[in-house]
Amino acid sequence: MNDFLKLEGVSMHFPIRKFGKRTRYVHAMDDVSFSLKKGEILSLVGESGSGKTTTARVIAKVYTPTSGNVFVNGNLVSKKMHTSKLKEYRQRVQMIFQDPFSSLNPTKRVRSILSRPFVLYKSMSNSKEIRQAERDVLEVVGLTPTDFYLDKFPHELSGGQRQRVGIARAISVEPDLILADEPTSMLDVSIRLSIMNTLLKLKEERNISYLYITHDLAGARYVSDRIIVMYAGMIMEIGPAEELIQHPLHPYTQLLKRAAPSPETGFNKKKLGYVGEVPSLISPPKACRFSPRCPFAMEKCSKEIPPLYEIGDRKVRCFLYEKSNQENVRFDES
Ligand code: SF4
Repeated sequence: MNDFLKLEGVSMHFPIRKFGKRTRYVHAMDDVSFSLKKGEILSLVGESGSGKTTTARVIAKVYTPTSGNVFVNGNLVSKKMHTSKLKEYRQRVQMIFQDPFSSLNPTKRVRSILSRPFVLYKSMSNSKEIRQAERDVLEVVGLTPTDFYLDKFPHELSGGQRQRVGIARAISVEPDLILADEPTSMLDVSIRLSIMNTLLKLKEERNISYLYITHDLAGARYVSDRIIVMYAGMIMEIGPAEELIQHPLHPYTQLLKRAAPSPETGFNKKKLGYVGEVPSLISPPKACRFSPRCPFAMEKCSKEIPPLYEIGDRKVRCFLYEKSNQENVRFDES
C-alpha cells in the first residue's frame, strides 16, 4: 500500500496578540509527522488539548501550518491553493463532525442537505437523478426507508440518525479520505458500535482512508489499523493498534491504558492517579512535555525534547528508549 496522506514535520502555532502585537504563540502542534495508506484507518488518540483536532483541520485546509508539509497522493497541499483546486481537494477530503446536530442545517430537510454536495461537487442538475443519488447514499448508511428520512428535519432524527446523515453527506462525493472528528463521542453507547461498524463497512466497500480522532482508546482499538497517541501537541507513540494497546511503550500510553476508558466518558481520570493537567502550550519549554506527570522522568527529560525512537514498526518519543537505556526498559504487560 502506498502512502495516501503524509505529514512531514508539521507545526501549527497560533499567535497571542497584546496591544495588536504578536507576543507569544500557542504551540497547538509541533513537529507532527505520519503517513496514512489508502484504505487504512489511523486513529489519533489523546486528551483535550493534545492537538488532534488541529491536526485534522490542518489536513482539511482550515489552517495553513506554521511550518512543515502535508502531501495527499504525492501532491503538496499545505500551501495556498487555487479555488478550483481547493474545491477538488474538499471533494476528496471530507470531514465528519463530533456534533451531528450543529453540523446539519436545522432549517433544511435531509433531502436538501444531501442535494448540495451532488450539485456542488458532482455537477448534477436533474432533480430525479439527484433524488435517486440521495436514496442510494442513505441506503448505504442504513437509513431506510429512504423516502421517510429524506423528508425529515435534523431535529426529527435521533443523534445516531443525524450522524448517519453526516456520514451520507461525506460519502456522497466519493472521497478518498475522511477526517472523522470524535464522530461517536456524543452518541449513546449502544449507537456508537453501529456507527463504527458503518465506517468499517465503508472502508471495506469503498477503500476509504480515515483519520479517526478520538479520546476513547477502546474505540480506537476497535476501528483502527494503527494508532497515534498525541500529548500536548506532539506525537508520543505510533504503532499497530492491537500491539500498541497490548504493550504500550510510552509512559503516557501506559497511563491511558490503566485509565480503563469508560464507554460513556472515555478516560477515567480518577483511575489515572498521577493525572495532572496537560501543560500550557504557550511557548512551552524545551523539555519532554510529559515530564511534569511522568513517574520515570530523568534529569535530561526537563532539558531536551526526546526524538521519536524507532522500535520495529513502532515509534516512541521517550528517552527510556534511547539505545543506552533499552535493556532497562520496563514493558507494560498489564
Ligand atoms: Fe518520562 Fe522522560 Fe520518557 Fe518523557 S522522556 S516520557 S519524562 S521518561
